[in-house]
Amino acid sequence: MISSNKKKIIWLLWIIIFPIGLWYTYQLYPPQLSERGIDLVIFLLMTAFVAATPLVINGSPIFFIQWVSWATFLIFGLFVELVMAQLALIVLFTRVKLTKGNYFRLPLNSLMFFLVSLLSGVFYYMMGGKTGLALSDVTATFPLVVSYPIIHYLLNHLIIILINYLFYNNQRENFGKEFVWETVTTLITFPIGFVLYILYVEVGLIALLFVGIPFISLSIILNLYYSSDKINSYLQKAAEIGHQLAEKLIVDEVIDLFIEKITELINVDFAYLLEVVDEKELHLLRCIEKGEVKTTNIHPLKKNEGISGLVWDKGEAMLFNTKKEWNHIVRGYMPDTIESVICVPIARNNMITGIILLASSQKRAYEKSQLAIVDILCSHFAISIENAKHYEETREKSERCALTSLFNYRYFDQLLNDEYRLLELHQRKRLSLIILDIDHFKKVNDTYGHQSGNEILIQLANKLVHIIDDQGTVARFGGEEFVILLPDTTREEALFIAETIRLTIAQYSFILTQHLEQSEMPISAKITASFGVATAPGDGEDAMSLIRHADRALYVGAKRAGRNRVAEYVG
Ligand code: GH3
Ligand code: MG
Ligand code: MG
Repeated sequence: MISSNKKKIIWLLWIIIFPIGLWYTYQLYPPQLSERGIDLVIFLLMTAFVAATPLVINGSPIFFIQWVSWATFLIFGLFVELVMAQLALIVLFTRVKLTKGNYFRLPLNSLMFFLVSLLSGVFYYMMGGKTGLALSDVTATFPLVVSYPIIHYLLNHLIIILINYLFYNNQRENFGKEFVWETVTTLITFPIGFVLYILYVEVGLIALLFVGIPFISLSIILNLYYSSDKINSYLQKAAEIGHQLAEKLIVDEVIDLFIEKITELINVDFAYLLEVVDEKELHLLRCIEKGEVKTTNIHPLKKNEGISGLVWDKGEAMLFNTKKEWNHIVRGYMPDTIESVICVPIARNNMITGIILLASSQKRAYEKSQLAIVDILCSHFAISIENAKHYEETREKSERCALTSLFNYRYFDQLLNDEYRLLELHQRKRLSLIILDIDHFKKVNDTYGHQSGNEILIQLANKLVHIIDDQGTVARFGGEEFVILLPDTTREEALFIAETIRLTIAQYSFILTQHLEQSEMPISAKITASFGVATAPGDGEDAMSLIRHADRALYVGAKRAGRNRVAEYVG
């Protein structure tokens, strides 16, 4: 970022240097028009036309203007060339998107053009160079004539490096891609400018056609070349992102990575990821505004509502360049500063599962090629999300009991072994285990039916989870037996918790709706349970013995002693 003070200095320098310099140039080197006013106008138009089709590399425009401007200099003199360069700049800036904080680039570039032209021109004159049609003996003056473009080119770079040093803290590459392009275009354009001059002297205005048509074709080809170069690098990056997405197995991680990479790849101020819910509505899944994750509550969108709803309905990606193009479509939420919008459907097996909307505060921030890249990334994203969902579901299923949704024995066994490792590493002080078994559950089944037995198991499971909360983990051990693992809980605390649960169960009325009784009405049923408690490290050297000892306490201490009670292991 450039400080506002520096921006003020740039404007000030421009206001001082530009008019004075222009006025002096006019006095010292007056325009050499001599009844060629119409030709000058045609040259002006040509300049404007060429400036209107710049090549934009890494966000900076590269001019193909030198061939006109150098011929202009040789034909009409320094003053006309200075004015022409400014005209080219004005045309250029109406094409390149300038945002509010970037207005200083106008005086900065204006000054740069002005100084480079002025200094090389003055140097040329001081060395004895001449401008105007008199310069017809080209061979004699050739070395001098060539010195002008060389000086022009060197000065231009010197000033770019200087500006980089003064205003951008050397953050920009001095000899990067732009430098290469600038050099290439200089090598092409200056000789052509010279040819244009000689031809103009010989045949007049028609020279502009002879030189202009091949040159404009060339610049169109260069433009095409560069854009295909750019698309190539986009495709490469998209493939890379696709691989990274495929590696993620957690849905949230896939989403985060997708948003992160897409905002890195293209210029995004706002990003909204919406999910199709029940094939009826679009719900906001993620919202990033100016690089920050926001929890904006946005009213769900129906099909055809707003930009996202429209893209959902049509199943086709959309690109908007300015607010004017989308303003009439939007319903509801849309930040005020947004101009450019890319909106792409996320589809899997011909079903649209989501929408991504990317936006920028700049006008015309996105190109068609970027839309295509976002589209490709969305397919990668859709596949990765499906895989991650699949993985999460499978894992969930493999860890949970289908009836009660509690963790199953497999999970519990793993957890217990993990906890034991922590105990061995002294990262845990102790570990308590409660096993509970419903009393006379066979009878419950016989009385109310197996279905109602299940109802009791479900309700009991919910109760246990509710009571234990985040103190530990509840799992279904098997049949009508449950285990509760309590890390860093003393034997006394565990006994107290077990007693609390025992009382709660004994007092609770379970509601049965699928019983075998005659009436359709729900009935209530009472049960009791017996408990065994063991605490490591004292009650067991390893995971298996802790379970065995808690189980022993349950059967010997609680069941045999009459049921509906809590017993601790005594070694
Ligand atoms: P006690 O533990 O007090 O000695 O008596 P009990 O009747 O509970 O004895 P036992 O542990 O031998 O019997 C467990 C019964 O639980 C056997 C089985 O019918 C029932 N059971 C096990 N799993 C389920 C289940 O998923 N649903 C239903 N409804 N019943 C189950
Ligand atoms: Mg039982
Ligand atoms: Mg049992």
